[in-house]
Amino acid sequence: MSNVRVGLVGIGAQSQENLLPSLLQTPDIHVVAVCDGVAERARLVHRHVKDVELYDDVAKMLTDTKLDALVVACPPQAHRDIATLAMNRGVHVFVEKPPCFTLNELLSLTELSRQSGLVTGVGMNFRFARSIQHLRLIQNEPQFGRTAHIQLNHYANKPRAPMWGLDSTLRSFLLAQAIHTIDLAMLFGGDVKETRSEVQNDNGSLIVEINISFKNGATASILTGTMFPYFEFEMKLISDTSTMVRLDNLSDITLHEPDHVTRAGGNDKRWRGYWRPGPLDSGYVRSGYQSELQDFFDAIRTGGKFEADFANLIPTYEVIEQVCEKGDRLAAEVAIDTLNLLQGHKPSLQASDLGQ
Ligand code: NAD
Repeated sequence: MSNVRVGLVGIGAQSQENLLPSLLQTPDIHVVAVCDGVAERARLVHRHVKDVELYDDVAKMLTDTKLDALVVACPPQAHRDIATLAMNRGVHVFVEKPPCFTLNELLSLTELSRQSGLVTGVGMNFRFARSIQHLRLIQNEPQFGRTAHIQLNHYANKPRAPMWGLDSTLRSFLLAQAIHTIDLAMLFGGDVKETRSEVQNDNGSLIVEINISFKNGATASILTGTMFPYFEFEMKLISDTSTMVRLDNLSDITLHEPDHVTRAGGNDKRWRGYWRPGPLDSGYVRSGYQSELQDFFDAIRTGGKFEADFANLIPTYEVIEQVCEKGDRLAAEVAIDTLNLLQGHKPSLQASDLGQ
């Protein structure tokens, strides 16, 4: 299959700003149909692609049009349901993050993808960003040594209320934002041995600390939440050769080494090197949107596996479940303490009384 026939579903901000432009720049990809529950959103695509069929119902689109793959950017409940529909119809499917709400839902999607043998993908674009690809090269250099620690700071200021019909702000935040950061910890860390977490929840304004130990002896610490003034992202990799690589805002990399043997002046000097994406890298390449789609379509063409498929996200969802279980139990306990205090009697209600 050289030319892949694609149906794009959900013509909101993400499709308009990132996915459609990336698809249009990807060779041998033909967007033949688009669908949005709001018909006029689907029509917006005609500004960019003329010969495309418009739909407001995915099931009808899959019946009427021969498609090789769906690319979907909707809310998570629609990702889950549309991915299930697509796989049942034998169509490869790429959904934006988050692919679903819970670990159990992800396990069901993974099982269906395994049975169908189709290529699945989730839009974890951080890991396909140029800077992260460069960090992966550095990590794999023998001189870098063994990764001992991964530090990730993902500061955000939203969401501070539940999204997508969920009742937990914590789960909404983890699925909407921190999913990228947890995924990076998995990417650079490996198989998880243990996860510990602490959550402060001040009326939906969150501080979340996650500490992960990996089976290979490495550790990761993630500081994230919504109690920050604005979005900022920092990452450090520290190795057993005392090398530290710092990434700022998914763009600039600084390499700190105790010494640099190839440098004129001897090996007793501390050394630091800089890297940043090339000025000619397009925004979609830099942010990973085009590379992730390119790799997804390559997997379809070659019969291979896409790296960020449903199964690959399971460890990330296991961490999300662990953090939610602890954080939501704590929030329920605080709510009960407050209620008991207001009622002016000794604490009598238990968290289990609220089903937590
Ligand atoms: P949006 O609300 O702007 O757009 C969603 C669109 O999906 C809407 O037009 C809606 O009408 C349509 N839709 C909903 N259910 C549908 C259904 N069953 N069938 C057809 N159309 C349906 O949202 P958005 O900002 O574009 O975000 C979409 C997804 O992309 C979210 O899951 C979000 O988390 C994700 N996203 C990812 C990144 C990233 O960095 N990877 C960035 C932004 C958004």
